[in-house]
Amino acid sequence: MNYVKPKKRLGQHFLNDQNIAANIVEAIHPDTQHLLEIGPGTGVLTDIILTKNFPDFKIIEIDEESVDFLNFKYPQLKNQLIKGDFLRLKFDDIFPGKFSIIGNFPYNISSQILFRVWDERHRVDEVVGMFQKEVAERVAAKPGSKVYGILSVLLQAFYDIEYLFTVPEHVFIPPPKVKSGVIRLKRNNTIQLEVDELLFKNVIKTAFNQRRKTLSNSLKSMGFKEHTAELSHLASKRPEQLSVSEFVEITRLLK
Ligand code: SAH
Repeated sequence: MNYVKPKKRLGQHFLNDQNIAANIVEAIHPDTQHLLEIGPGTGVLTDIILTKNFPDFKIIEIDEESVDFLNFKYPQLKNQLIKGDFLRLKFDDIFPGKFSIIGNFPYNISSQILFRVWDERHRVDEVVGMFQKEVAERVAAKPGSKVYGILSVLLQAFYDIEYLFTVPEHVFIPPPKVKSGVIRLKRNNTIQLEVDELLFKNVIKTAFNQRRKTLSNSLKSMGFKEHTAELSHLASKRPEQLSVSEFVEITRLLK
């Protein structure tokens, strides 16, 4: 058994380039203790990850055919391979505490993976992975950039993010329609923001969902107006012009 039929609905594009696979795996911190690979497919990254002997390595794959293939290829990983949906995985069941994530991720659920990382920011230490280039750029984007958005601000509040390299379409089977980008998210030392973090998330979502409006308009319903004195220097700005700390500041003043 050496073939898994790529399934579009599961975002399956199998990487077919050993050097790129090695470069992705090299980007994860070598002292990583607990590591989860999302969506191994036929194990292109897994092969290389295994050479690093991380003390606690687990894998989650949703596709039954891939799981059968992986069980056949790696009989020794029987207790580390989880058949299931990453979005429903209960981390407490598999790791004692903090862990890192690696993967050539299924692009149909990239945003959901990244929102889940944000939700679990107190235990996800590092993420190294491939996304469609546009998503990778968005996550790493700085204020003022056209692609700076909700995930940029949310994730940059807790992670140092680096765009590592771009991957062309033709190294996948089948080739995706777009280029891919590999990024690394490394947890920074912010333990907690000094504001209500759910309100922070709400402010960001509300502002970017109406990204062409000024903040005084888009955030009016959240009470922006009442504080015009302290907020006046931001009132006429649009969300893509604001740094993470300015979003924190707004959240603090709304509360
Ligand atoms: N890492 C492999 C495969 C990448 S394709 C490679 O580089 O070649 C994305 C993989 O994610 C597929 O194997 C797909 O089945 C799997 N996948 C899709 N949705 C998933 C989910 N919700 N949870 C876990 N794995 C998923």
